[in-house]
Amino acid sequence: MAGKTLFEKIWDRHVIAEREGGQSLIYIDRHLCHDGSFNAFGQLREHGRTVRRPKQTFATPDHYTPTKSADLRDVPDPRATEISMAIDENCEEFGVTLFPWLDERQGIAHVVGPEQGITLPGIVLCCGDSHTSTHGALGCISFGIGASEVAHVLATQAIWQRRPKTMRITVDGKLGFGVSGKDVIIAIIRQISAAGGTGHAIEYAGSAIRDLSMEGRLTLCNMTIEAGSRIGMVAPDTTTLEYIEGRPYAPKGAAWDKAVDFWRELPSDDDATFDTEHTVDGNAIAPMVTWGNSPQWAAPVTEAIPEPSSEADTEKRAEMEATLDYMDLKPGTRIDEIKVDKVFIGSCTNARIEDLRSAAAVAKGRRAVVSTLISPGSGLVKKQAEAEGLDKIFTDAGMEWRLPGCSMCVGMNGDLLEPGERSASTSNRNFRGRQGVGSRTHLVSPAMAAAAAVTGTFTDVRKLMEG
Ligand code: SF4
Repeated sequence: MAGKTLFEKIWDRHVIAEREGGQSLIYIDRHLCHDGSFNAFGQLREHGRTVRRPKQTFATPDHYTPTKSADLRDVPDPRATEISMAIDENCEEFGVTLFPWLDERQGIAHVVGPEQGITLPGIVLCCGDSHTSTHGALGCISFGIGASEVAHVLATQAIWQRRPKTMRITVDGKLGFGVSGKDVIIAIIRQISAAGGTGHAIEYAGSAIRDLSMEGRLTLCNMTIEAGSRIGMVAPDTTTLEYIEGRPYAPKGAAWDKAVDFWRELPSDDDATFDTEHTVDGNAIAPMVTWGNSPQWAAPVTEAIPEPSSEADTEKRAEMEATLDYMDLKPGTRIDEIKVDKVFIGSCTNARIEDLRSAAAVAKGRRAVVSTLISPGSGLVKKQAEAEGLDKIFTDAGMEWRLPGCSMCVGMNGDLLEPGERSASTSNRNFRGRQGVGSRTHLVSPAMAAAAAVTGTFTDVRKLMEG
């Protein structure tokens, strides 16, 4: 019998029932909710239902909370305040564990889950947010679900899903100085396209992936959804175990030993086969910058914006022309000649402690020449950063050190670009208007964002860090 992939080993253990048409009823081990999940609690109330497994359900406000002050009313839209306040009442009524506003454990759900040890290898985790793919970095199956599906999982602790195909993306080689998990995932999406992972669960493998820290792997899996796939995974290894051990909700004592024995069996078998395979040369990846309205429109900072006329596919050529028009950019422009108006360092992609350390290493002793907003991923990340003096480095550089939340990734709390403004952003989405009406978003790593902040243009961070 052929061996099994990491995905297959976990999926098969979680199938409760199967029905015609390829749908499987999957047991959910952990369910994360955020302030935007309020509708689902409303549906439960309306139908007189309870939460099936409240101890396996965790919530934290993130999308609508202010970053400027501790006052939940400090956002332009009063409805945002109502939404971020509703989570307290919903969690109290339904018995769900809440990491409330101003608690140091509060933050972006995809930062909080791994940080608290809620996300573990071998589990199935879901959340009403498409970037739930993040958690697969710890060797689990995790995927985003829609609002009505959130109510279904709250009520039943299970969900119907179609079994995806499997894909392995192998990145071998050694990442160069100044190249991070963010650059790896942008390079992957550039190579396989924003639809390249559609219908597949992706396992990232290879020496360059194994060498990534857990923060780097979380960034990688976070943007899996931007490659069209809902599930991204990295097999658990020593890096994973070292990250999890001692976290509040991680198993302890004998339960830890038992869990580790199980987790060590999870990596894909040597003879396992995947429906699709891609390879990427890790040695060749440089710091990346997106230049269009999809993460697939990206280039190394050392290159220029490509000519649409060189694209043979007419549909793709038209798409490139339209995206350049929206972004107000000309083909042939060197990436390092593009000026930015604002810099955002934060989001579930890049607001963990390692991300802030890499941005601070660039900002140290320099001054920001454009407005720069930094929002840590959680209260605990904020606390750690302040203990290390990173906040001081940022504020000395004239950057704004804010409270944790989704912030300018999506701007539901009013942290937005003005129409026509161009950002260097460590978030994950750059479609039209993502950071506000008429906004122009370029996705980069935290170090590249800090380099743009102190120079005003996209700058090869390796030049700033030489020596
Ligand atoms: S930081 Fe952005 S992508 Fe992540 S959960 Fe919040 S809004 Fe979604």
